[in-house]
Amino acid sequence: MCLTHIRVSFVTDSCLFCRIASGEIPATLVGQNEHAVAFRDIHPQAPVHLLVIPRRHVASLAEATDAVEVGALCLLAAEVARQEGVAETGYRVVMNTGADGGQTVSHLHLHLLAGRRMTWPPG
Ligand code: 5GP
Ligand code: ZN
Repeated sequence: MCLTHIRVSFVTDSCLFCRIASGEIPATLVGQNEHAVAFRDIHPQAPVHLLVIPRRHVASLAEATDAVEVGALCLLAAEVARQEGVAETGYRVVMNTGADGGQTVSHLHLHLLAGRRMTWPPG
């Protein structure tokens, strides 16, 4: 087994969102495509609060290198927004990145928040 494989397996085993993406930890899935999975946030901050994550482990937007993968997150977000019936009323998409960005789970994810009027600037 090569070193890269050992490193990737370790990350996958220990990362919460890798385990959700693989189905090992349950979540309420609302959509998926080749690169990404969408599910409901366990502590919703709005009537609709979804997370969209890449299937592959990427720690944050700062580590992202694959434009197709990042694009797939955005397109899946737009698709599930239509499914949830909030495309017309609007929604907010957020990628908390790093400590000052408020990121608590080190697997790239996009928040989709909707169903109430968002405020600006965010806290
Ligand atoms: P962050 O703070 O990193 O931007 O967002 C992490 C998000 O993951 C939070 O909104 C948090 O509620 C959500 N979360 C944490 N653990 C779980 C979990 O086990 N299941 C689900 N569905 N969401 C989770
Ligand atoms: Zn991961």
